[in-house]
Amino acid sequence: MATIFTKIANGEIPSYRVADDERHYAFLDINPVAPGHVLVIPRTEEDYIFNLSEDDYDKLWAFARRVAVAMKKAIPCKRVAVAVLGMEVPHTHIHLVPINNEGDMNFRAPKLSLPTEEMQQIADAIAAEFI
Ligand code: AMP
Repeated sequence: MATIFTKIANGEIPSYRVADDERHYAFLDINPVAPGHVLVIPRTEEDYIFNLSEDDYDKLWAFARRVAVAMKKAIPCKRVAVAVLGMEVPHTHIHLVPINNEGDMNFRAPKLSLPTEEMQQIADAIAAEFI
């Protein structure tokens, strides 16, 4: 059975898309730890990132870098931070989070729930900077 992230990448479940190519998909985390929190996934269904083939692994990080560069241009922040957790969804995903200090990336803090219009605005701003 397809994972929820595969369904998102295939458009069967709606998401705030920020970028994609034939092997990857990037979208806003629905419950962000900070505004502009993005998830980057490979279309390949693999739970654990370190079980990806070397080629899939390298290409995923290269794609994530392009997304992070776009995020840095679109969202005022000191830098884009990275985390790989996978405690909830068994489909490899890289968290990219715009931060101004280390407290902005606290996965134990209550998650945000931003209005639809704001989420769409953020996704569109990142998508517009993606090269
Ligand atoms: P983890 O597996 O621990 O890395 O966390 C999974 C992340 O996926 C969490 O930050 C969730 O908020 C996020 N998430 C779960 N379902 C969705 C969804 N349908 N759309 C966007 N993000 C999601």
